[in-house]
Amino acid sequence: MSDVLVLCYHAVSERWPSELAVSPELLDRQLTELGGRGYRVTTFTRAVTDPPWARTLAVTFDDAYRSTLELAAPVLARHRAPGTVYAPTDWVGRPDPMSWPGIEEWTDGPHRDELLCLDWDGLAELKRQGWEVGSHTRSHPRLPQVDDATLADELRGSRELIGERLGACESIAYPYGDSDERVVRATAAAGYTAAGTLTGLPHVAQPLSWPRVGVYPDNRPLFFRLKTSATLRSLVVRAQRLRARS
Ligand SMILES: [Zn+2]
Repeated sequence: MSDVLVLCYHAVSERWPSELAVSPELLDRQLTELGGRGYRVTTFTRAVTDPPWARTLAVTFDDAYRSTLELAAPVLARHRAPGTVYAPTDWVGRPDPMSWPGIEEWTDGPHRDELLCLDWDGLAELKRQGWEVGSHTRSHPRLPQVDDATLADELRGSRELIGERLGACESIAYPYGDSDERVVRATAAAGYTAAGTLTGLPHVAQPLSWPRVGVYPDNRPLFFRLKTSATLRSLVVRAQRLRARS
C-alpha cells in the first residue's frame, strides 16, 4: 500500500513574521528532505485518489496568497514538483487584503500586501505550470457553522467559478481545515472528488476528508520529521480506531 503524505502550507515570505508564512529556504529544505526519504510529488486529487508511487507527496497551499506564485512556485519548479493551491473565490483578484478571523490582525500594517489574493491570471499561470487549482470556498467561513443553503452556495459557487475560469475544480481545502459529516456530504453533493482537512492529529483518511499535515515556520527539523513520519501517522490513526471501538 502506498503512503500518501499531504502537506499544508499557507504563505511564503522572507519578511512576514506570521505563523502562516514559511521562508522559501525552509520550503526548499523540507522538499529536499522528503525527496531524500523517497517521496515524489503529484497534485492533491491524484495523490488521494490514485497515488502513483509507494511514497506519494502532495504539497498544498491554502488561501492563494500572491506569494504562492511569486515564491512557492519557483521552489517547487526546482524540485519538478506540481503544487496545489486553494483559492477563496470571492477574494480572487481583489485589490484589498484578504481578511477573516486569524489573519485580520495583519490587514492594516506593513505586511498588508502579503494578504493579497492572486488574480485569475495568476491562478491560470500556476495551472500552466502543472499545478492543481482547487476551491477554498467563496468567502472562507467555518463550514460546520453555516446553514445548509450557505454551505451549498459556498461549495458549489466556488467550484463552478473555478471550473468556468480554469476548466476544472476537483478538490477543496476546508477553511481552517474544519469539517463534519454534514459538510462532507454536501461536498460530495457539490461534485468534489477530494477534500483536505487540517487537524492537530492525523485521522482516518478518506478522499473527502483527507488529513493534511500543517507546516509552520517554527517547526524544528525533528518536529517536521515526526509530523511527516509514515510510521507515526499510521500509529496515531490505529490508536484512534482502537479507541473508537472500545
Ligand atoms: Zn484558509
